[in-house]
Amino acid sequence: METAEIRRRWLAYFEARGHTVVPSASLIYDDPNLLFVNAGMVPFKPYFLGEQQPTWDRATSVQKCVRTGDIEEVGKTSRHGTFFQMNGNFSFGDYFKEGAIDFAWGLLTTSQADGGYGLDPELLWPTVFRDDDEAYALWRDRIGVPEARIVRRDEEDNYWSMGVPGPGGPSSEIFYDRGARYGADGGPAVDEDRFMEIWNLVFMQDELSAFRTKSDFDIRGPLPRRNIDTGMGLERMASVLQGKDNLYEIDEVYPVLAKAAEMTGRTYGAKSGHAATSSHPDDVHLRVVADHIRSSLMLIGDGVTPGNEGRGYVLRRMLRRAVRAMRLLGYRDHALPQLLPVSKDRMKASYPELETDFARISQIAYAEEDAFRRTLDAGTTILDTAVTKAKKQPSPQLSGDAAFQLHDTYGFPIDLTLEMAAEQGVQVDEAGFRFLMQEQRDRAKADAKAKKSGHADVGVWTELLSLGRTDWQAYEHLSVEASVVGLVRDGERQQELEPGATGQVVLDRTSFYAESGGQIADSGDIVTEQGVLKVLDVQRPVKGLVVHTVQVQDGPVRVGEQVQAKVDPDWRVAACQAHSGTHVIHAALRQVLGPSALQSGSYNKPGYLRLDFAWGSALSPETRSEIEEVANLAVRKDLPVSAQFMTLPEAREWGALALFGETYDEQVRVVQIGGPWSRELCGGTHVAHSSQVGALTLTGESSVGSGVRRVEAFVGMDALHYLAGERAMVAELSGLVKVQPAELPARISELLTRVKDAEREIAKLRQQQVLAGAGDLVAGAKDVFGVRYVGHDAGAASADEVRALVLQLRDQLGDATPAVVAVTGVSKDRPVVVVATNAQAREWGVRAGDLVKVAAGVLGGGGGGKPDLAQGGGSDAGKTGDALTRVEHTVGETVTAR
Ligand code: ATP
Ligand code: MG
Repeated sequence: METAEIRRRWLAYFEARGHTVVPSASLIYDDPNLLFVNAGMVPFKPYFLGEQQPTWDRATSVQKCVRTGDIEEVGKTSRHGTFFQMNGNFSFGDYFKEGAIDFAWGLLTTSQADGGYGLDPELLWPTVFRDDDEAYALWRDRIGVPEARIVRRDEEDNYWSMGVPGPGGPSSEIFYDRGARYGADGGPAVDEDRFMEIWNLVFMQDELSAFRTKSDFDIRGPLPRRNIDTGMGLERMASVLQGKDNLYEIDEVYPVLAKAAEMTGRTYGAKSGHAATSSHPDDVHLRVVADHIRSSLMLIGDGVTPGNEGRGYVLRRMLRRAVRAMRLLGYRDHALPQLLPVSKDRMKASYPELETDFARISQIAYAEEDAFRRTLDAGTTILDTAVTKAKKQPSPQLSGDAAFQLHDTYGFPIDLTLEMAAEQGVQVDEAGFRFLMQEQRDRAKADAKAKKSGHADVGVWTELLSLGRTDWQAYEHLSVEASVVGLVRDGERQQELEPGATGQVVLDRTSFYAESGGQIADSGDIVTEQGVLKVLDVQRPVKGLVVHTVQVQDGPVRVGEQVQAKVDPDWRVAACQAHSGTHVIHAALRQVLGPSALQSGSYNKPGYLRLDFAWGSALSPETRSEIEEVANLAVRKDLPVSAQFMTLPEAREWGALALFGETYDEQVRVVQIGGPWSRELCGGTHVAHSSQVGALTLTGESSVGSGVRRVEAFVGMDALHYLAGERAMVAELSGLVKVQPAELPARISELLTRVKDAEREIAKLRQQQVLAGAGDLVAGAKDVFGVRYVGHDAGAASADEVRALVLQLRDQLGDATPAVVAVTGVSKDRPVVVVATNAQAREWGVRAGDLVKVAAGVLGGGGGGKPDLAQGGGSDAGKTGDALTRVEHTVGETVTAR
């Protein structure tokens, strides 16, 4: 059965049983604690946590998931993919254990002819939590599973929680017996490869008051409303129903593997059997390629772009690991253009947007491969040098410093360094590397933390949320009356904040905009009965709760007090200008460059904005001007700006652009400027008419990773100030070079030409000066056992100058008798040496290359060349005299030894 069909049957089965079909959320769902969605329940978390009320009691979905923790497992076990799809059915206070078990058993064992998966009931093994007699009894008595096949397991395996205080409960997992050729009999406790987990049913019934470890937590009591969350691995089910050994051989994945095998001329499975654990490296590489290509496709599809941190780094790592695996299989050419389309063709049945968006997706992926190939070329040389050096040590080890340098400067991932060093039998000081990385991270974190205080521990915020959601009026009002619901300092709730203190304030109502969607938080004051709180930052650490970070200027302020939340009106006007300006620039970019120039990130604050977008190459000055012109024309046209709430499907129909953090909230907000010209899903604040943006001026355009460009702009008065600054600079320049502004370019290029000519003239004069002394030097040539020898230290002279002098000297010494010339010079603190011989000297066995090696040895460097002319250098500029002496002696030794 095809994967798409397994998925279709799932949704049909649960829809027929009263579940609302909810589309998959984006992999980069907006959750500060998660890099990627890693389970089907993630988008439903607000409902399970009681932060939000669902509009349905039952839901079902097929959710895209990425588990970064499983990267290393890929190809080595048979059941882990980095990207996979989790089929889930959910109950919010509706059916519980009995319903969940009935549904699961029904779908698994109903015959394929009747719309089920048709698994043999004898091969299914349910597990339950040790103390969950209720679930045990259901499996035994209601379903009729023999006791021998029902397994009780501990907290480690069968108790679910979020790792923090909150909902938790026992789970029941269903394992499928794949048969004797996969391992020993005896159930999941004996062999999890033979007995493969396919479906996990979670019974949320407890409220945890403390969580220490997976097996050590406190239960406060029963949840007021019990919920069901289940997850079935779609790919695992496909491997069962398609009779495949592992996830990499199913219909959605295998074609990429087959293509990679064809490209590299390898035969998959030729060198190992089905036991994934004893796989041949070739097979592991092929599986890595197949898995990572698909994951990368899905990640880029959801708006991730390669980068050096967070999500971007995961994507970069997977793309690079895939390319690297192809290299290890002997394939050196561009691999992605052949592999990515194969994956897209397999996945588009379930995700049609991959097809329509493929121009953008492939551009980003291919650009990353190009970047990686350049990195590989540069980094490999440096790594090889470092490895060669390390090999000379008694116990060869590459220093953590070197590994860090490679990572930091050349973008060489550590795993690649480890792998390539290991190939040459050299260890890497990984601990040292990790230490340096940690140091760098700590520095970055310290910066970020100062800003997002309180983000780490959400406990206190969930507590405050339970007192009520913040009535958020940022769209309607600049100033509102409110009362203080909670005060927090250093993560602890307080009754009062003293004057001078910095802490967090939660109000029952606020007009302050909390940072989100690229727009920074509002600035302003909270006026209390006895003083003023200066608002430094506003965040939403949990959905529904707005938290103001404030400094108490006059006070104190107490819980329960009546206050007035007052946003600085000038600030807000400028913030609206900047955010609307961002939409205008985005629309202008897409109008000029085409629809694939999609935004991948943005940031805006009063007076300034920046926008990252998918594009492969630098924008020419003409293109930049055109974008600026289109944007400013849109401002001048005074287009109406409006915001409307609608459902996600309606928004899609409208063509509203949305790449990130799509939520299941029934209503989304669409901001449009000039009707369809600009439509984006956006929660930000905006001007009412485009003319209110004022002016937009692009200040910079740069690269921020492969396939992603960044434009920056000033907005409103700041745009004017920026232009005024440039005008002042032009005036200053024209004063300096004494021409009218319009003549500046001609004047400056004329000046540059003159400087260049002058430099050339100086070089020529210096050359003549050096050569002028040649006659004297020839006259003063020494006789070294029959060889005419000139050794000369030219002092400050470049390599070119030294070489010219050497050639001139050899010329003047002629061919009548053996002659050798050696000249040293020093350029930019580094010594150079050039040696030349004539034909007769060479007949006597004197070779320039040998002599240069001797001299360079003295100078602390190396060099080489031909017997007639050779050049070298070093690092010790004080040793040129010694080097010449050594050359002279060597000449003597060579001819006397003849
Ligand atoms: P395992 O112990 O096998 O790693 P898990 O306990 O991490 O699995 P759950 O968190 O219970 O898995 O997820 C629910 C279902 O999702 C599993 O029953 C399995 O079918 C599937 N699943 C989990 N991780 C992966 C993965 N990396 N690749 C494919 N499917 C997965
Ligand atoms: Mg599990």
